[in-house]
Amino acid sequence: MDYNQFFDGALSDLREQGNYRHFADLERRTGDFPHATHRDAAGKERPVTIWCSNDYLGMGQHPKVLTAMHDALDRSGAGAGGTRNISGTTHDHVLLEGELADLHGKEAALLFTSGYVSNWAALGTLAAKIPNCVILSDALNHASMIEGMRHSRAQRVIWKHNDLNDLRAHLETLPKDQPKIIAFESVYSMDGDIAPIAEICDLAEEFGALTYLDEVHAVGMYGPRGGGVAERDGVMDRVDIIQGTLGKAFGVVGGYITGSAQMVDFVRSFASGFIFTTALPPAVAAGAAASIRHLKDSSAERMLQRARVAELRAQLDQIGIPHIPNPSHIIPVMVGDPVKCKFISDKLLNEHGVYIQPINYPTVPKGTERLRITPSPVHSAEDMERLVTALEDLWHQCELARQPMAAQ
Ligand SMILES: *Cc1c(COP(=O)(O)O)cnc(C)c1O
Repeated sequence: MDYNQFFDGALSDLREQGNYRHFADLERRTGDFPHATHRDAAGKERPVTIWCSNDYLGMGQHPKVLTAMHDALDRSGAGAGGTRNISGTTHDHVLLEGELADLHGKEAALLFTSGYVSNWAALGTLAAKIPNCVILSDALNHASMIEGMRHSRAQRVIWKHNDLNDLRAHLETLPKDQPKIIAFESVYSMDGDIAPIAEICDLAEEFGALTYLDEVHAVGMYGPRGGGVAERDGVMDRVDIIQGTLGKAFGVVGGYITGSAQMVDFVRSFASGFIFTTALPPAVAAGAAASIRHLKDSSAERMLQRARVAELRAQLDQIGIPHIPNPSHIIPVMVGDPVKCKFISDKLLNEHGVYIQPINYPTVPKGTERLRITPSPVHSAEDMERLVTALEDLWHQCELARQPMAAQ
């Protein structure tokens, strides 16, 4: 077989479907984020403002985080030097897990190398090892959960996104004594809508199910201490397993689960994706712990972030640019055409110094292609003005529809 010819063929198919992924070469500058340097294919440099980062609060450049990382690097060196079982559990890992358990009001926490791995490993292990377990999975759950469930080979039931009636209907068809896990997210990344966590917990209690909640887009962002939407809603104690990332609002990298001491010890003891991989560097653990600690005490970043989101929504409304009116910090600006979506994104980058990755099928359904904008406390009024002016210009160029409210 000519392997490279095979690879080329598959990639051409992707290109033809408009699904080929181009990565922007960006260099973030500490202290100046969301501003960065973009290098194009020819190596030409130009300044850009990033408007689609998941470093939602700018914690990736927070002085407390950087100091903690520098200190740990100087104190303990670069890598952890082993799996958690074989010399890779450093004191920084222990402290971070304590910080995470406290954040979610749980008995214990377990760290993984990423949020993806934590979902894949934890959900996969629980569903595989609990005898005869069935997972009830929200239709829009993240790929990492889907892969974990698949890997478990457990029975799977997909319920309509955020639809309590559909979830109930499925629960009613299952045997009363069959072990169940309800897996869902709090803030959904692409539409920015939020799950009815309390009502899902009601159903879980009624039908004897465990609840597994992915708070990846919510940790650091919601609740008085950044514990997520479950904290904001006062229901953290009702969710059995809360999963999160250290790579988005906390600005570093890594993933985790929290829950009862027994559940965490079980996953620690049986999850291949936890056991057989080198632990995160101690400096990463120290930086994440500093970030969490800061956001437990400080709501300033969250407040400022919310104000920026409201401001951008208001400015988009003024010029009639359509966006999904959701209750979260994610602003999906709807283009509804894959070619125009990519065109606008390219023009923003190359002519306006604005970087927003286009989001096309298969990440979102066809016809709902969008620009997913995530304003942060580090975006200035000038940054926003530049963005809105550029969008207005491109909306006109692409002859895209405006919302009626622009008329007045
Ligand atoms: C990003 C993401 C993850 C994975 O987290 P990483 O730390 O980036 O691996 C898991 N779940 C959801 C919903 C996500 O958006």
